[in-house]
Amino acid sequence: MTEPTTLTAPVLVVVDHVGGALTAPSAEVLTLARTLAGPAGVAAAALTDAPDLDALGRYGVGTVHVPELDGLSPEVTAVAAEAVLAVAREVEPAAVLLVSTFAGKELAARLAVALGSGAIVDATGVAVTADGTLAVSKTVLQGTWDTTCAVTRGVPVVALKPTAAEAVPAPSGAATAVSVPVGFSAGARAVRVVSRTEHPRGGRAPLSEAKVVVVGGRGVDGDFTLVEELADELGAAVGATRVATDEGWIEHSAQVGQTGVTISPRLYIGAGVSGAIHHTAGMQAAETVVAINNDPEAPIFEMADLGVVGDVSDVLSQAIAELRRLRQG
Ligand SMILES: Cc1cc2nc3c(=O)[nH]c(=O)nc-3n(C[C@H](O)[C@H](O)[C@H](O)COP(=O)(O)OP(=O)(O)OC[C@H]3O[C@@H](n4cnc5c(N)ncnc54)[C@H](O)[C@@H]3O)c2cc1C
Repeated sequence: MTEPTTLTAPVLVVVDHVGGALTAPSAEVLTLARTLAGPAGVAAAALTDAPDLDALGRYGVGTVHVPELDGLSPEVTAVAAEAVLAVAREVEPAAVLLVSTFAGKELAARLAVALGSGAIVDATGVAVTADGTLAVSKTVLQGTWDTTCAVTRGVPVVALKPTAAEAVPAPSGAATAVSVPVGFSAGARAVRVVSRTEHPRGGRAPLSEAKVVVVGGRGVDGDFTLVEELADELGAAVGATRVATDEGWIEHSAQVGQTGVTISPRLYIGAGVSGAIHHTAGMQAAETVVAINNDPEAPIFEMADLGVVGDVSDVLSQAIAELRRLRQG
């Protein structure tokens, strides 16, 4: 095993903003970028007119490069890719990091093609080995294998999963913004976003970014009240199995699994979930799995770190009451 070291050129991080604020997953990626960057430091590319300069500075960014979008929409991946490419040509980074969202993965792929390099998506960690290689950790085959991968030519583009690291600030001044002109291709100019409707997110963390997720399955029998109450006590997101979403007990966007959202929280709590392979495919990267099921033979107990055999309503109500008691006491 070679000793970790740092890169000689800057690390470029493509950062996301929501409502003018740096997102938590971008802060996590910036934290990881600092561990890779040598004296050349961390630069950011922000596809927003008004990046959060204070927050970027707090996470170690000296300069944030803001591409001139010329009225084009960065939600169009071709636009985002050409914009970030223009920044990359200016910064000449040793690596480009971004968040492994649906859009982030598409952007990573396009960027790698444009840079003549390679992209690794859904990564869970990065480190620089003694020979200067960027070693990227990634869980594959439905969470059954951990691998280490490397891009073998050009500037590696790595999309990191939300919750891949704890966001840790590095006290420094605000970042400085510089604008970068972009010569957009006819292809990028061909698509325009004509309207946007924001979906209400409620007060909970988005499922794919949450550090704690409480999931309800058929065992909740149509009533997600206790699942939601426990989630709120823990500051968690709420997920569901396909049975629960197909039954209309909760919206489809809450579905975790092969045909739903893939999650990698620190803590997964499954309530009335059997542990079918199509479901576990989407949550196998969870660090700690707690299962509540009244069937001691339920397959989910095979992967659970803590199993509670009991009725979901009894166990959830007791857990909620105990959390409230501890909080008050
Ligand atoms: C192509 C394909 C793709 C799929 N994709 C997905 C996917 O993305 N996500 C997904 O989740 N599923 C997916 N499925 C469905 C998947 O195979 C399972 O059917 C589903 O995950 C089961 O959901 P469940 O655990 O809620 O229900 P069940 O398998 O019916 O399990 C319910 C569990 O609740 C327990 N229980 C019942 N009552 C109580 C109680 N009162 N207290 C405590 N425990 C109780 C039972 O013992 C049981 O173990 C897919 C299927 C196919 C064919």
